[in-house]
Amino acid sequence: MNNAVVIGAGLGGLQCAYILAKNGLSVTVLEQDSHIGGCLQTFRRGNTLFDTGFHYVGGLREGESLYPLFRYFNLLDLPWQALDEDCFDEVVIGDKRFAFANGHERFAATLAEAFPEEHLSLKRYADFLKSVGEHVYDVFLSRNSTGSFATSLFAQSAYDYLIDTFHNPLLRQVISGTSLKMELSRDTLPLYVFAQINNSFIQSAWRLKGGGSLIAERLASDIRSMGGEVRTDCPVVAIEEKSGCAAGVRLKDGDFVSADVVIADVHPQEAMRLMANCASLRKVYRQRIQSLEDTIGMFTVNIRLKPGMVPYENRNIFVHKHDADLWLPNDGRRGSVMVSFYPNFDAIDLLTPMCWSEVARWADKPAGRRGEDYVAFKNETVEQCLQLVENRLPYLRDAIDGVYTSSPLTYRRYTRTHEGSVYGIRKDWHSPMTTVLTPKTTIPNVMLTGQNLNLHGLLGVSMTSVITAAEIIGLDTLRRQIFNC
Ligand SMILES: Cc1cc2nc3c(=O)[nH]c(=O)nc-3n(C[C@H](O)[C@H](O)[C@H](O)COP(=O)(O)OP(=O)(O)OC[C@H]3O[C@@H](n4cnc5c(N)ncnc54)[C@H](O)[C@@H]3O)c2cc1C
Repeated sequence: MNNAVVIGAGLGGLQCAYILAKNGLSVTVLEQDSHIGGCLQTFRRGNTLFDTGFHYVGGLREGESLYPLFRYFNLLDLPWQALDEDCFDEVVIGDKRFAFANGHERFAATLAEAFPEEHLSLKRYADFLKSVGEHVYDVFLSRNSTGSFATSLFAQSAYDYLIDTFHNPLLRQVISGTSLKMELSRDTLPLYVFAQINNSFIQSAWRLKGGGSLIAERLASDIRSMGGEVRTDCPVVAIEEKSGCAAGVRLKDGDFVSADVVIADVHPQEAMRLMANCASLRKVYRQRIQSLEDTIGMFTVNIRLKPGMVPYENRNIFVHKHDADLWLPNDGRRGSVMVSFYPNFDAIDLLTPMCWSEVARWADKPAGRRGEDYVAFKNETVEQCLQLVENRLPYLRDAIDGVYTSSPLTYRRYTRTHEGSVYGIRKDWHSPMTTVLTPKTTIPNVMLTGQNLNLHGLLGVSMTSVITAAEIIGLDTLRRQIFNC
């Protein structure tokens, strides 16, 4: 196989293309949007650059979760800024504030100051996270196991784990309080997702000065310098099949791009749509993918600030109503907001979970022409977010210079993610074998990649890219290249 086509220039697609190009394949990445990056995109309003999705990442120091992969992908020398080690995330519940500190011991000790009666449980929790982090690369490194540690944690409930581990309900809320970076579903969230993501941030936490698009641009530039192609404004409308294998992809403008192997970094249901006419795609597989549910969406308020009026805080702040139950299904009540600051701009983002059902009535209307009720709905949501954070940031309202919003409808438009879901397919600890996907489809030379398969976020997508590319060039080769073993 020497000619690979990658559908989608999100992180997963670009990383797969990078690996294949590095290993001598001729690679073409086809992105439907006018910009690469998917959830890593940034946009400019005046002089201010805003992030759309990605805001921070964990585990970038040597010996930590993401380090070996970002070293391999040549991403370590981007302008990363470490967040405050004694409080990289602050959880505000009602009028109480709690600090998440970096380092497992310091993390446990800091919270134990507020919950002294739980100091042993906190230590056990921190030790548990550490051990989860130590097993992060089992799936690549252990020659005899296919990640049995991960498999067992994918089959356990995160919520039950917290109930069993901590007695104090407030502490359970605090421990869950930074987890807008996943869907806190009491009924479904696997312990693996909760633990692996939280662990990486407790190791170390980083913002990227200049935004997530720097990651996408670096990968694309390296792909091009290795002879690959990254094309925008190229929506793929079909994967075409010949003799039981993919022959290539059809673009919206009618062009055909031939391929020995196709990697789809798109929502798997979008991949099924692209393979609608592929007879070799087994019906049972198609039905399984189509039956999977998605995680919730997000509403983001990007705020440009008047210069110098809001002091930069080198931490994220997660504000929750005093009576918010973070593990209840999201029902449209605005109970939680994440506040993220920009290191090099007078700007701030507020993010709050939002279900598709809240915006579904405008789904068929084109952007910019969704009517006054949609504008009113967005304004009301902005107001709810501002009210939630106003005790913690009392000077924010007066400092606002411009407000821009995005809803699940926006994410659906820019990334084609089904129903604007923020973290893709919902993993369910009751049925990990069905909800955690492998890259293989039932067409031998069509693979999936990206956040929908395994773990979402930059750590999860980077791991999955390696797993996908390993199907083509072999795990041993990649193991040598990434881990020198
Ligand atoms: C609001 C938000 C906040 C987040 N915050 C963080 C964070 O702070 N830290 C973190 O680690 N992670 C965060 N994430 C998650 C992280 O950004 C994602 O997990 C990751 O970027 C997903 O990458 P991907 O390649 O799987 O998918 P995507 O980024 O969705 O990329 C898919 C690409 O495929 C393209 N595409 C789709 N269909 C077609 C087609 N038919 N033809 C051609 N191209 C197509 C899309 O346009 C898109 O560019 C956040 C996500 C969101 C949405």
